Amino acid sequence: MVTTTKQDELDLIRQSIIDDQVCVELANSATNLVFGDGDPDAELLFIGEAPGKNEDLQGKPFVGAAGKFLDQLLEMINLPRSKVYITNIVKYRPPQNRDPLPTEKEEFLPYLVKQIEIIRPKLIITLGRHSMNSLLPTQQISKVHGYPKRYNGQIYLPLFHPAAALYNGVMKQVLIDDFLKIPAILEKI
Ligand code: URA
Repeated sequence: MVTTTKQDELDLIRQSIIDDQVCVELANSATNLVFGDGDPDAELLFIGEAPGKNEDLQGKPFVGAAGKFLDQLLEMINLPRSKVYITNIVKYRPPQNRDPLPTEKEEFLPYLVKQIEIIRPKLIITLGRHSMNSLLPTQQISKVHGYPKRYNGQIYLPLFHPAAALYNGVMKQVLIDDFLKIPAILEKI
């Protein structure tokens, strides 16, 4: 009997992004498709915005400066990166790191939804407003960050983006304080 693993299913979704020619202009200017990385059985799924330069070169999400900060935040709650899953809403680097366009976020959304359905995390952590607004429309990050939200049967925790917080002392401390709430939130679910 052949058993299909979650990783096999994720690999199929990754391939379908290429076969369906999603955001072909971005694909043409990018070095790599940055699909996602980590444990497909993770309880925690982190969703960022889009790959930057380092992510594009390495084909992995959050490996640059923002990623190093995310690693430190994970260390603070004793969670190895290998135990979580990390992805982005948009899976190719936008040129010059510009904000992803609404059409790009829309084109990638069905593939993100499939990733979520395969991983079935207990808690989805959105990093920044682009990721939050793709999944939790109408919310304002400045108001809801750090508070878990239930939407369509899934629990979300919206957080500030580590790249935005990195060079803003006040936002950095808010992100650290919000991050430290994660273990208790997970426990409650
Ligand atoms: N910022 C993001 O939103 N995602 C990455 O993968 C890296 C930086």
